[in-house]
Amino acid sequence: MRKAAVTLIAALGLVSDRSRQMANTRSLPESPRLKELRPGLFALRGWVGWTHLLIDDDGVVLVDSGFAGDLRRLQGAITGLGFQPHQLKAILITHGHIDHTANAAALQAWSGAKVYAPAGDELHLDGRYAYRRAAKVCGLLKFLGRGLMRYRPPKVDVWVRDGDELPFWGGLHVVGLPGHTEGHVGYYTASKRVFFVGDTFAVSFRIALPPAIPSTDAALARESFGKVLDYDADLLVPTHYFSIDEHTIDRVRAKAASLNLKR
Ligand SMILES: [Zn+2]
Repeated sequence: MRKAAVTLIAALGLVSDRSRQMANTRSLPESPRLKELRPGLFALRGWVGWTHLLIDDDGVVLVDSGFAGDLRRLQGAITGLGFQPHQLKAILITHGHIDHTANAAALQAWSGAKVYAPAGDELHLDGRYAYRRAAKVCGLLKFLGRGLMRYRPPKVDVWVRDGDELPFWGGLHVVGLPGHTEGHVGYYTASKRVFFVGDTFAVSFRIALPPAIPSTDAALARESFGKVLDYDADLLVPTHYFSIDEHTIDRVRAKAASLNLKR
């Protein structure tokens, strides 16, 4: 299986020879839903988006926590990669929407992981956010969804803000990317040139800004889209995508230019 995983990565042409050697350190568990984007960076496909697993020497860190129905897959991916539950060190939430937070409390109870979430999204995380005008229908759907899923908010250990530094995966920098929600953040690593951008945009047939509903502030969301390009990254990692690779950033630049977002 390990050999097959390395061959797959090599065939994708995403990594260097040295990185191929490093890829041997963790092998892919049997799951067509789990991909290794880079050595030490796995993506698990859930019902509505991807959850990302960042591999450190002493454990694993999640970016977001998936949606209803993703919990067992997430637990299986973590243990399948050779980690014990207690080695899930942290869950980093990009924003408080339920398709990013649904399993945070259950994973926290399973592992003891610390939850990091953006200050400014407290009401979203608690399920108490009051949507206004047309977005009220989203509030109603989320209310019903929380009831069906028996949503439990996680206990947030650390509220993060723009500029914070986190001691994971070689050092992660918290970047405020407000608009989709008030507190929305991304997590950027300069050493690996990877930027987790949450719902700042999605990559489907085209690069899509977050929809105006349920976003809080569409103008701010556009600004945050442009801000992503201020960072030296060669892999941009949103939550919702068909596929991403090192060329995604060119498509993001083209979209920013078409939106007149000059940086
Ligand atoms: Zn969202």
